This record gives sequence, structure tokens and C-alpha cells, in this order.
Amino acid sequence: MHELSIAESLITIIGEEMTRHGLKKLLLVKVVTGQISAIVPEALETAFEVLTLDTHLAGAKIEVEVKPMKVRCRQCGHEFSPSHEERILMPCPECSTELGHAIISGRELYIEHIEAE
Ligand SMILES: [Zn+2]
Repeated sequence: MHELSIAESLITIIGEEMTRHGLKKLLLVKVVTGQISAIVPEALETAFEVLTLDTHLAGAKIEVEVKPMKVRCRQCGHEFSPSHEERILMPCPECSTELGHAIISGRELYIEHIEAE
């Protein structure tokens, strides 16, 4: 379950960020993750809640937003987001090429913002 180690790094980063700004109480953290980053939002939320239980971050809300994958067609350069059913073969809506597209986004993982006081 790699969400646990991801939650650990998030907590470290958030802790450093709060110290730097003199903040004491974490209210909300919003995390953005790509569709193909293999992160299960519920698992990450649970891991975060469990790991912060007895810390000064306890009680903070975590929101995980999943961004769709985006690819650029190998043949015609058209950019599109394949639907979930099209994850293996990804037919381009412009020219129907199915294979070899470049992945532009979908693997990202970052903290979009935190609310603290
Ligand atoms: Zn195309």
C-alpha cells in the first residue's frame, strides 16, 4: 500500500510548510493526483487520517482530486483524454490511431493548497 508512504511525505512537507509560516493548526489539505498515478484516493485519505491521529495535524480534512489522463496523438498531434474504457487502446478522435500516444499528464501528484491557522 504505497499510499501510506505518500501520506508520510505529504505530512512531512505540510509540517515544514506550517513551521515556516508559523501556523499551528491544519484545517484542510488538497492533493491533486493523476489518473494513472495508481493512487487510490480513499486509501490516501485514510492513510493521512491514521498517520495524523496523534499529531498536531489531527482533525485536518484531506481532499484528493483525480485529474484525467491526457495524451497527444502520435499521428496527428491532437490532444485528448481517453475515456476509462479506452485505457488499453486509445483511439484518437481525429484520426483513429490507437497506439503510441505521448502521455502529457496523468502521473502527477502534488499539494494544491493547504488551509491552516
Ligand atoms: Zn490523431
